[in-house]
Amino acid sequence: MVNKQRTIEKILEPPAPHWVGDAFRVHNFFPGNGLMTLQRMSPFFLMDYGAKIEFPATETPRGVGVHPHRGFETVTIAYHGKVAHHDSAGHAGVIGEGDVQWMTAASGVLHKEYHEKEWSKKGGMFQMVQLWVNLPAKFKMSPPKYQSLERKQFGKYLLPNDGGEVEVIAGKYNEVVGPAFSFTPVEMYNIRFNSGGKADFSLPQSYNTGCVIIEGTVKINNQPIDTDHFVLFKNDGTNFTMEASENAIVLLLSGEPINEPIVPYGPFVMNTKEEIMQAYDDLNKGKFGYLED
Ligand code: MN
Repeated sequence: MVNKQRTIEKILEPPAPHWVGDAFRVHNFFPGNGLMTLQRMSPFFLMDYGAKIEFPATETPRGVGVHPHRGFETVTIAYHGKVAHHDSAGHAGVIGEGDVQWMTAASGVLHKEYHEKEWSKKGGMFQMVQLWVNLPAKFKMSPPKYQSLERKQFGKYLLPNDGGEVEVIAGKYNEVVGPAFSFTPVEMYNIRFNSGGKADFSLPQSYNTGCVIIEGTVKINNQPIDTDHFVLFKNDGTNFTMEASENAIVLLLSGEPINEPIVPYGPFVMNTKEEIMQAYDDLNKGKFGYLED
């Protein structure tokens, strides 16, 4: 592999937020803002970024009620606050600061997503990312699956000169491997910089690659990027650098594109219109199981 610099294609400001239920105020970086095509970040289909927001205490947890998914995976990364999940495949879990929930809807689940009960009673700062990771046709009707990944399980690469660490959620960074199982090749890292930290990255040119600045500001290929911004890289090379002159956190995503037609509709991401109609038919026939509200 020839090492060549991968350059920045565009830097996106956070688009106007919208609410998902009453729990998640999110900025949809893709595919909704029209600045990227549906396939531009494939295998990542959607990124909802929940920038920092303060929630007052409440006895009734805020959330999103029971809804279906088919054909992909939802990956939720918590930075502040706690998220609880239940689904009709019998999986349930709570993730807190730094943890990741990786739910494979595949053939179909009903699920609900809430602020965790005890956290809700106190309220506080909330910040998270939800990704929809697409599945190739051959895995879209696989059985549902659930991975609850705690921060302490992540691979950890210490950056030189006390520069911070790269937490490897999925994939591999400098021989450090992440614990998440993915159906297609995916690299997902939380880069937690200390002031003065630097990191080099080399990812296959064909992999679609982007990052969001969760905390602080960083320089990517010497270009300053502000908090809450998304950086889309061109597929014109492999290598890029990041450095931080203050404490900063960056979520980096990179993956091998799934080169198949894509038909998204509501909570489903399939390959054809017929499969979308089939999904609604199966939902109406109760084939997604049952989940109490
Ligand atoms: Mn959902």
